[in-house]
Amino acid sequence: MNIFCPKCNTQIEGSNISVANNTFLCVNCDEVFVLSEMIDTDEILEIEKSFESPPKGIKINVEHENLIIHIFTHSREAFFLFFFTIVFSTVSFLGLYNVLLRESIIELFLISIFVIISICLISQFVYSLFGKIKLFVGRNESSYIFIGVGIIGYKKYLHWDLIKKITINTENLSEGGIKRRIHIFEGNKIIKISLSFMNEEKRFFLEKSLRYFKKQFAI
Ligand SMILES: [Zn+2]
Repeated sequence: MNIFCPKCNTQIEGSNISVANNTFLCVNCDEVFVLSEMIDTDEILEIEKSFESPPKGIKINVEHENLIIHIFTHSREAFFLFFFTIVFSTVSFLGLYNVLLRESIIELFLISIFVIISICLISQFVYSLFGKIKLFVGRNESSYIFIGVGIIGYKKYLHWDLIKKITINTENLSEGGIKRRIHIFEGNKIIKISLSFMNEEKRFFLEKSLRYFKKQFAI
């Protein structure tokens, strides 16, 4: 394992690496760093190789020296969501239609809850099929991460020099299932990006890429 100081790039001697404490010391900077946050040279080569032939469902483009990584959802879970969404939305919208005919305010209020849930389900379904996470790594322009469908979605700007750590956060939902997000600790805020409908390979690829660019751009 070749570890280099994230600040001064000096190679760290084995005696200053403590796997048990998950830390290492740079004698040059006199600073202690977290070991698991680091990527070693072998890993860098591995990541650079994977940029040339990315896993299925990931596309990499270079435009005007900017690197763009597209990670598409195309999830198998979409299949199950499809039937549930169809049934739930049909019932809700038929309900809405009937309530509108009867002009009852209370019923309208109740049915609108179902309609809102249906809209959420439909957008989840569309995202599960056509969604993407786009990581834009700018040479001269600002880097950002975009999540959405087509051009509809949200964009979070990234400042590589302010990023402290990147983790994948797993949360067990009360209604069952697991919600995964990537947490980017930047300055004193946390940028959270949903990893729904992304398989393990894609999640791993995104996490590694972010760590890689953080290392490339920091200082
Ligand atoms: Zn150092």
